[in-house]
Amino acid sequence: MSISVWILEDQLLAEHQALRHALEMAAVAEVTVVLIESRKAQRRLPYHRKRLALIMAAGRHYAAELRAKGYQVDYRQADDVASGLAAHCADYAPTQLLTMAASHYGLRQWQTHKAAAHLALPVTVLPNTQFLTSQFDPYPNPVPDKRYLMEYFYRKMRKHFNLLIEPDGSPTGGAWNYDKLNRETLPKQHTCPPIPTFTADAITLQAIADVANIETAVGSATDFNLAVTRADAQAAFADFLAHRLDLFGPYEDAMTTNEDTLYHSVLSPYMNLGLLAPMEMVAAAIERYQAGHVRLNSVEGFVRQIVGWREFVWWQYWRQMPGMRTKNHWQVNRPVPEFFWSGETDMHCMQTVIKRVLRTGFNHHIERLMVLCNFCVLAGIDPAEVNDWFMSLYIDAYDWVMYPNVIGMGLNADGGITATKPYIASANYINKMSDFCGSCKFKPKQRHGETACPFNLMYWNFLIEHEAVLRANPRMGPNVLALRHLDAAERAIVTREAQQFLETL
Ligand SMILES: Cc1cc2nc3c(=O)[nH]c(=O)nc-3n(C[C@H](O)[C@H](O)[C@H](O)COP(=O)(O)OP(=O)(O)OC[C@H]3O[C@@H](n4cnc5c(N)ncnc54)[C@H](O)[C@@H]3O)c2cc1C
Ligand code: SF4
Repeated sequence: MSISVWILEDQLLAEHQALRHALEMAAVAEVTVVLIESRKAQRRLPYHRKRLALIMAAGRHYAAELRAKGYQVDYRQADDVASGLAAHCADYAPTQLLTMAASHYGLRQWQTHKAAAHLALPVTVLPNTQFLTSQFDPYPNPVPDKRYLMEYFYRKMRKHFNLLIEPDGSPTGGAWNYDKLNRETLPKQHTCPPIPTFTADAITLQAIADVANIETAVGSATDFNLAVTRADAQAAFADFLAHRLDLFGPYEDAMTTNEDTLYHSVLSPYMNLGLLAPMEMVAAAIERYQAGHVRLNSVEGFVRQIVGWREFVWWQYWRQMPGMRTKNHWQVNRPVPEFFWSGETDMHCMQTVIKRVLRTGFNHHIERLMVLCNFCVLAGIDPAEVNDWFMSLYIDAYDWVMYPNVIGMGLNADGGITATKPYIASANYINKMSDFCGSCKFKPKQRHGETACPFNLMYWNFLIEHEAVLRANPRMGPNVLALRHLDAAERAIVTREAQQFLETL
C-alpha cells in the first residue's frame, strides 16, 4: 500500500487529520505528504507580495518540519493544483489519496467531485477540523434567507463550549457582551506595544526572493517579518496575551494615523493558515482573565471575535455559497477607484488606511469596515470588485472569510443575511473614533460646500436616495430620522454635490 496525503496551503495544522488517518492505515514509510504551490493561484489576482511570501514561506517550513519528523514529503511547484497532483501521482504511484476538506468552496467541490476521476485513484476527503462549528453547529439546518443574528449564534457557542459561563449557566460578569466598554478612543501621544517581528531564515528569504519575481503581484516583501511556523505564531500569540490583550477591548474600535495595529492581536494570518487553533487561543485568553491579568471586557471581546464572528462568517460562507459571489443587493456598479491602488487621495482617512495596507498587507477591523467598506457602500462600488481588491491585498485573505465580511457585513450586498444593517456612517463616526480628521483638507462637521467631507456628502445622499428602504429597517431608523434636519433646498445641494464628487472617482 502507498498512501498520499494532500495537505492544502491553509491547512498547516499541528495535527492534520488526513495524516493521522493515513498513519492508522499504513506505516510512515508508506505515506507521502504532498503540498502544491500553484502558479495559477498565485497570479489569479494582483496579490500583495507579503501575502504570497507568507503562504509560501509557511508552506515550505511546514514541509521541512514534516521531513525533520521523518515523513517523505513531495513539495511541488506546478501550474495549478490539478496538474501538480497528477504529476505527483505519476511520480509516486499512490494507491489512494487522503485529504481534508478545503476551506475554499470551489476547491472543495473539485476535491469531492472531480479529483478521483482526474487522478484515477480513490480520494478520501475527511471533514475539515479547523473550525469549532465542525464540533457543534448552533443552527444545523438553517432556513434559506432567514436572518440569524451573530449574537445568538455566539451565545449558543459559548454555552456549548463552556466559555466564560458560570456554574448556573449565566455569562461571567452577568452580561454576554461588553461592547459599551469597548469604544474608547486612543489618548493623544499614546504609544501601543509593538507587535513582535520575526527574522527571515534561509527558507523565508527564498520565498521573499521568489515573490519578487511574480510579475502580477503588488507591494513589497523585502521588509517581511511575519511568523511562518507554528512556534513563531505561538510566540506572537504569547506576546499578545502578555502585552496587548488587557487593552484589546477598550481600544478595539479606535483608529489612529500613527499606529498600524493598536491593541489588536494580528493573529488572523496565522489562524487562517492553520498555525494556531481557535480553541487553544480562547482557552489561553480566558486563563489570563481567570489569573487576574486582564479585564473581562477585553477577554470577552476577544472570545466573541473568535468564537462568535469568525465561526459565524465561516458558517455564513457555507450557508450562502456559491450564490454569495454574485450578490449585489444595492445594484451598484461603480469600479474601484484608482486611488485604492496608490492611496493618493486628499481624504486623510482613506489615504492612511490604503497606504497602510499597501505597505503592510493589513488593516484592523474598524479600518476595513468603517472606513473602506463604508466608503464603498456610500459610493456604490461594485461588490465583486471590492471583494477582489480586499482579496488581493490582505495577508489574512481567504475566500471563506472575505465573502461574508465584504459582501455580507461590509457592503450589505447579501441584503442583510450576514449583518442586519448596512454599516454606514458620516464623518462624525470617523472623527470620533480616530485622529484622522485633524490633518485632513476636508471638514468633518461640514455637510456640504467646497471643503465638506466627502463621507458627509455621500452619507446624506445615500440616506436621501434610499430613505424608504432604510426607514423600514429598525436598526437604521435613527439614521433616517436625522434627515428631518435637512430641508428640501439642503437635500438638493447635498445630492448635487455628492454626484459631483462621485463623478471624480
Ligand atoms: C471588509 C472586511 C474584510 C475582512 N477580511 C478578512 C480577511 O480576509 N481575513 C480575516 O481573517 N478576517 C477578515 N476580516 C475580519 C477582521 O477584520 C479580521 O479578522 C481582523 O481585522 C484581523 O486582525 P486581528 O487578528 O488583529 O484581529 P483581532 O481584532 O485581534 O480579533 C481576533 C481574531 O478574531 C477573528 N475575527 C474577528 N472578526 C472577524 C470577522 N469579522 N471575521 C473573521 N474573523 C474575525 C480573527 O481571527 C482575529 O484574528 C474582514 C473584515 C472586514 C470588515
Ligand atoms: S474629514 Fe472626512 S475625509 Fe477627512 S479624514 Fe475626516 S472623515 Fe476622512
